[in-house]
Amino acid sequence: MTIVGARPQFIKAAPVSRALAAAGLREQIVHTGQHFDAGMSDVFFEELGIPRPAHHLGVSGGGHGVMTGAMLQALEPLMEAEAPDWVLVYGDTNSTLAGALAASKLHIPVAHVEAGLRSFNRRMPEEQNRIVTDHLSDLLLTPTDGATRRLREEGIPDERIVQVGDVMFDAALYYADRAAERSAVLAQHDLVAGTYILATIHRADNTDDPARLRAIMEGLEAVATERPVILPLHPRTRAALERHGRALSKVRAVDPVGYLDMVALERHAALVATDSGGVQKEAYFHGVPCVTLRDETEWTELVDLGWNRLAPPTQVDIAAVIREAVGTSGQEGRPYGDGQAADHIARALRDKRLA
Ligand code: UDP
Repeated sequence: MTIVGARPQFIKAAPVSRALAAAGLREQIVHTGQHFDAGMSDVFFEELGIPRPAHHLGVSGGGHGVMTGAMLQALEPLMEAEAPDWVLVYGDTNSTLAGALAASKLHIPVAHVEAGLRSFNRRMPEEQNRIVTDHLSDLLLTPTDGATRRLREEGIPDERIVQVGDVMFDAALYYADRAAERSAVLAQHDLVAGTYILATIHRADNTDDPARLRAIMEGLEAVATERPVILPLHPRTRAALERHGRALSKVRAVDPVGYLDMVALERHAALVATDSGGVQKEAYFHGVPCVTLRDETEWTELVDLGWNRLAPPTQVDIAAVIREAVGTSGQEGRPYGDGQAADHIARALRDKRLA
């Protein structure tokens, strides 16, 4: 039983669902409803060929407690009725936490994809969700050497950890050609390959802090006087901009785009500026430099390799960091595995279950 609910989880689940089917394993998808509208949810199921969810819990909105509580309430009877061999959770959202907690209380084995990531910033809801989920999980599927090392340091026994690589790397490889064939997003927005900045912002730390949000938007506006800046707006960010009465003039704010359009936008950008975890890595997969608009990152290997640099909002001149990073590249490396993480996950689930 796979628990998904937020945009990045649909993208991570796509290659894994395919690999599970190829390995002859039966998967039942449960959509919690955390992200529910067409642009944040349906488009990914359609474009990426993810099997339709068997259950839709319809839980969205509200504070963390209301949302997580409602998910737990709905998941527990479902898991009891379906009695899956594994519950599979992804990443670090409230859906991840609820899935892991509900299963673990029912003594159903939990497997966590993207285990072992840490920002060491306990203020982030994602960090809290990851830590709890990792420590409740029976199988911790890690993307990188660093993630594996951290879990060991936290006392997780070796036999629970399997380093599989990053499923987002699998997805980037698998869908690159399809994006090249099908996406017309550059033409739609009148963008010339290699000349524009792609930006995304949605972390609560940035959207809910007016000073940080202002610093980010002013930095992007300054860059947008020199070259196009396209910003597919996450609903949380759109709401925050409205709340703080902040209008964008030069930055081109657009609705969230589908994955194939996102891949095309990433691939042809001069630079990516983001606070997203997934988008930092995708910039690297497509050989594009990245500026991360946060104080820290979980994906430190890209900073070490020189592909990514941190620009803590309110502490640095964001526009200056972006200008400096355009045209740069980093060292070679293969930090995210062999592009077959999903197959390794399917194998681990089958083998561990039989063991
Ligand atoms: N993404 C997308 N359309 C957008 C913005 C992002 O398809 O308008 C994709 C992006 O390519 C990546 C994933 O969503 O695969 C990242 O999700 P998000 O930034 O919401 O979450 P995070 O990775 O920070 O958890």
